[in-house]
Amino acid sequence: MNELAQFCRNLKKDFTPRTKDPKKLVGCWSEKDVLDNKIVDAFVIIFRTKGCSWALESGCSMCGYFNDSMWDEVSDNDLLTQFDTAMNKYSGQKFVKIFTSGSFLDDEEVRSKVRKQILSKLAETADKVSVESRPEYITDKKISEIKKNFKSKIFEVGVGLETANDITRERCLNKGFTFDDYKKAVKTLKKYSVKLKTYILVKPPFLTEKESLEDAINTVEKIKKITDTISFNPTNVQRNTLVNYLWQRKKYRPPWLFSIVEILKESKKIAPDVLIKCDIAGGGGIRGAHNCKDCDRQYIKAIEDFSLNQDIKVFQDLDCDCKDKWLDLLDIEGLTFGSINDI
Ligand code: SF4
Ligand SMILES: [Zn+2]
Repeated sequence: MNELAQFCRNLKKDFTPRTKDPKKLVGCWSEKDVLDNKIVDAFVIIFRTKGCSWALESGCSMCGYFNDSMWDEVSDNDLLTQFDTAMNKYSGQKFVKIFTSGSFLDDEEVRSKVRKQILSKLAETADKVSVESRPEYITDKKISEIKKNFKSKIFEVGVGLETANDITRERCLNKGFTFDDYKKAVKTLKKYSVKLKTYILVKPPFLTEKESLEDAINTVEKIKKITDTISFNPTNVQRNTLVNYLWQRKKYRPPWLFSIVEILKESKKIAPDVLIKCDIAGGGGIRGAHNCKDCDRQYIKAIEDFSLNQDIKVFQDLDCDCKDKWLDLLDIEGLTFGSINDI
C-alpha cells in the first residue's frame, strides 16, 4: 500500500459511523432532473450499506461518504426494510436515482438477490433507474442479469472517473483504478445498451485552481464520445478525509464557482450532445464551492438552472467584484506552494 493509501486508511481508524441502526435509510426525497430532454421529478434513495469496499480498504482522498455507512454487516432484510421505508414515501416518479455511498453493483454491499428485488419493484413504475458503481463491479454477468429484469426501461450506471488523467487519479485521489478500467466497463455497459453517467471531480487536492479547470476540460474531451451524461462534482470538504486534513491546515480551498461556470460553458461547447450537469454539495459554505457571500446564491442558482436546461445563457448576466480575485489567483497560484486560501 502506498503512502497516500495508508494515510487515507489511517484517517478512518477511529471514526464512528453517524448511526448504528442498519435498518435506517440515509435518506430519500424528490428533486428535479432531466428525462428524455424534459424536466421531471426524480426520486432519490440513499441506502445505508456496510460501506464502499474501496473505502474499507483505504478510500479516495476526497470521499467522506463512509461517514454514512455502517462499517459493519447490513443484512438483506435490513436493506429491504430500508427499501420499504423509501417506497412508503415514493409517489410513482418515473425517474429513480439510487445511491449507496459506494457501489450498488458490489455484492459485498448489496447482494444480487436484493438488487434484483429492488430493481424488479421499481421496474413496475419507473421508466429510468440510475445507480452508481466502481468499474470493477460492472461485469457481463451482473449487467445481463439486470437487463433481464429491466427489459425496455432505461438503466443508467454512474461511474466516478473523476479525471481522465491516471497520474492525478492515482497520486491525488487514491482512486484505485485506471482510465483503461473505466473504458473497459463502458464497453460492457454499451454492449447491453445501459446509459453511462460519468462523474468528474472539480478541484482534486494538490492541483491548483487553474490546473483543475484544465483537467476537467481535458477529461470532457477524452470522454465526450462515450458518455451520455457528465456530472461535475465540485469537491466539498468532508470529515475524516485527506481533503479535510489539508483544509484544516489551510492547504486546500474548494473550487470557485467562477471555475465551475467556465467548465460548464466550455464543456457544452465541446460536447453539445452530452447532458452536462453539476451538483454542488455544500455550495456557498466554506467547505463547499464558493465565491463571495454577495454572489454565491446567484451563481449556484444559475448552475442549477443550467443543469436542467442546458442553456449557457443563464450565465451571461452574472458578475461580481470578487471575480478579479479569482482571475489573479489563476495567474499567481502556480507560483506558490499549495493552494491559496480565502483571505
Ligand atoms: S469516491 Fe466512490 S469509490 Fe471512492 S471511496 Fe467514495 S464511494 Fe468509494
Ligand atoms: Zn462575489
